[in-house]
Amino acid sequence: MPATYSKDNPSSLPDFNNTEQAYAHLSSGELRRALLLFQTVGNAKLVGFGKTLMQWAMALRIPIGWAIRPTIYSHFCGGETIEGCEEQVDKLHRSGVRTILDYSAEGKETEDELESTFEAILEAIKATDQDNRHAFGVFKVSGIAPTVILELVSENKALTDDQQKAWERVRFRVAALCQEAARIKTAVFIDAEESWLQPAIDYLAEEQMLLHNHTEALVFNTVQLYRHDRLAYLKALTEKAQSSGFRLGVKLVRGAYMEKERLRATKIGVPSPIQHDKKATDRDYDAALDWCIQHIDSVSLCAGSHNEASSLLLCSKMKEAGLAVGDDRIWFAQLLGMSDPISFNLAAAGYNVAKYVPYGPIRETIPYLIRRAEENTSVAGQSSRELELIHREFKRRSEARRSQRI
Ligand SMILES: Cc1cc2nc3c(=O)[nH]c(=O)nc-3n(C[C@H](O)[C@H](O)[C@H](O)COP(=O)(O)OP(=O)(O)OC[C@H]3O[C@@H](n4cnc5c(N)ncnc54)[C@H](O)[C@@H]3O)c2cc1C
Repeated sequence: MPATYSKDNPSSLPDFNNTEQAYAHLSSGELRRALLLFQTVGNAKLVGFGKTLMQWAMALRIPIGWAIRPTIYSHFCGGETIEGCEEQVDKLHRSGVRTILDYSAEGKETEDELESTFEAILEAIKATDQDNRHAFGVFKVSGIAPTVILELVSENKALTDDQQKAWERVRFRVAALCQEAARIKTAVFIDAEESWLQPAIDYLAEEQMLLHNHTEALVFNTVQLYRHDRLAYLKALTEKAQSSGFRLGVKLVRGAYMEKERLRATKIGVPSPIQHDKKATDRDYDAALDWCIQHIDSVSLCAGSHNEASSLLLCSKMKEAGLAVGDDRIWFAQLLGMSDPISFNLAAAGYNVAKYVPYGPIRETIPYLIRRAEENTSVAGQSSRELELIHREFKRRSEARRSQRI
């Protein structure tokens, strides 16, 4: 058990059991909503039923906003527009947690749709200008690129003239987003996606890192450690950065597409890129944190994780290496509505912490919301841990009220 963090003893590690600090930003009504939500998504049958219902409603264009907006949407998303996220951004900032505005539109394929997603992401990056409540910009390459092009480039296939033009448009969009982020000095994350699209994404991310990451990391690629080959990629990329003279920016995550990856590998009869078990993923994730701290002179990192043990490990690695808690090369990030005990206790202890704040029209956020619901169902211990801590905070608040009355 780590020592409880206190301002008098800043060398101790943060205590993720401090629920008062973790939920100070939530009213009792909001806390009750969170409790109900985690109880619901903890039930695999209900989530399966809800997923089918949402997919049907989307396909048949049945309005479902009335059911989603006050529940799962308002818990996991900031709002429908950037302005709509203002209250959330401010609330996080007041507790020392910064925002990563994440425009949530997925599965777009036509050039018009891709162009309008590009414009929306550009607007989100611009919104961070001179506003230190925001920490990073972020985008998914698949939101601004036809999937088929990413797949062909990833497989190193020859492109037709039209496909080549489409790929050049993708490169232009990625370059324009990174250029704007670099101009206003907001670092930008490029999210990691399915393994069959990732070589193209790596190519684009590396191209932009080489261009913009001089003294500081302005472009970050994402490394998914649930893949058995990505620790080696991280190491090779560090060496490439050192020999090419750019600063490496990496967001380390475990990975969000495990079931899809395994299904596809089985379907097409190739070995799965995913680690054999969770233990192997955890081992590589923690080794990647260690690698980045050992190479902190050439690597900036963001630990995108809800895992308490990995978060504490990073704190202790920083301490061992004699790094300040607020070292600006090291960030922790979680998703809005998840793992508040990690985010807010780290922030109170002086670490750099940010939350993804997804936003966008309700229909557009549905794939993201389904992933969050499934993650809280399938990841052993995640929702039950959230539930345990929320229950504990309820108890603490009611005892505090009782003792005030006495
Ligand atoms: C700020 C932030 C940014 C993110 N960005 C991305 C991104 O760009 N791309 C992306 O893919 N994901 C991204 N994610 C999601 C992330 O990859 C994980 O799905 C999620 O955070 C859960 O992992 P965890 O580290 O929180 O830890 P845990 O809850 O401890 O781990 C759960 C994860 O472990 C892995 N796992 C579970 N069971 C097994 C098993 N049997 N075998 C092998 N591995 C297993 C899976 O990756 C699973 O998601 C992001 C998450 C955050 C917080």
